Amino acid sequence: MAKRTEPYIPGEQVSRQDSIKLNTNENPYPPSPAVITAISKEMERGLQLYPSPTANELCQKIGQVYGLAPEEVFVGNGSDEVLAFSFMAFFEPGKKIRFPSVTYSFYPVYAKLFDIPFEEIPLHEDFSVPIKRFYQSEGGVILPNPNAPTSLYKELDQIEAIIQNNPDQVVIIDEAYIDFASGSAIELVAKYDNLLVIQTTSKSRSLAGLRVGFALGNKTLIDALVRIKDSFNSYTLDRLALVGAKAALEDQVYFKKTTEMIIKTRQKTSDMLTTLGFNILPSQANFLFVTHATVPAEMIYGQLKEAGIIVRHFNKPPIDNYLRITIGTDEQMGKLVEKLKEII
Ligand code: PMP
Repeated sequence: MAKRTEPYIPGEQVSRQDSIKLNTNENPYPPSPAVITAISKEMERGLQLYPSPTANELCQKIGQVYGLAPEEVFVGNGSDEVLAFSFMAFFEPGKKIRFPSVTYSFYPVYAKLFDIPFEEIPLHEDFSVPIKRFYQSEGGVILPNPNAPTSLYKELDQIEAIIQNNPDQVVIIDEAYIDFASGSAIELVAKYDNLLVIQTTSKSRSLAGLRVGFALGNKTLIDALVRIKDSFNSYTLDRLALVGAKAALEDQVYFKKTTEMIIKTRQKTSDMLTTLGFNILPSQANFLFVTHATVPAEMIYGQLKEAGIIVRHFNKPPIDNYLRITIGTDEQMGKLVEKLKEII
């Protein structure tokens, strides 16, 4: 009989050309121009040949940027694929893993698909992660930092305490939004052989459409991921993705400039929304998680949508009556604020 799974439902993609899309945490800026040059060149070279199954040049580049050896880097088709392979490589049926509730909604989907039992650890009332409840897990831990959709960041000493208190289990830190926050756990990779850090080029490097994610960890963990990948499809990244992601990682100046612009816009938007009566969680991501003191989130979501501004509405307990708003350009956020003034 066919295996019945409850799939993840991705965020809405819109067809209206003039809409302002603030619902899936994409970067409002295009990728570095060097990415387009690299992809065009690769296309001229021809696509009739298979890509490198080891993705060695890209792994080397990522290693160089983060001070690690290429053997400590794994790349995959978006961090979603890297996460799926990690669940298969490091978590086992029969041993309960832990992740917070609420968090990235793909985790329970993977866990169910691979028959991995899980414990969802409720967030504190202020939506922060209860760190000590992740100590001594039976089967491992997966934790996004900053967490999604709350945008809250945990300091590295607390992340380190989770790693130390799970010495025989793998701790996965999903850092999809880390470049908008204050410090990555990558610096702990050399110290702990049970830590895997997963990042993506989808957010801070503007490459959601190219699908390149990566994991950083000691060689044994990376080797386990390579074995899983090679059991499915050795060529998970195509030639264009390999050269495009490498070019994005080479242009650190562009990356820093656009990331700083988003962080500045986040602050400005947060200030303006506070003036309009919104409560905003202190974000270290490229989105804001907000609720309004008097106007229901559902109404705001609906009226913004009618005006062609798409945000994400969270209406399932334990998080109800919240909106998640991706940080766009200053101009897009200006239009959002103008519309919100009308609604409120
Ligand atoms: N982790 C988290 C916490 C996310 O929010 C996302 C984006 N939806 C991902 C991973 C996956 O990102 P991607 O597959 O585009 O790398």
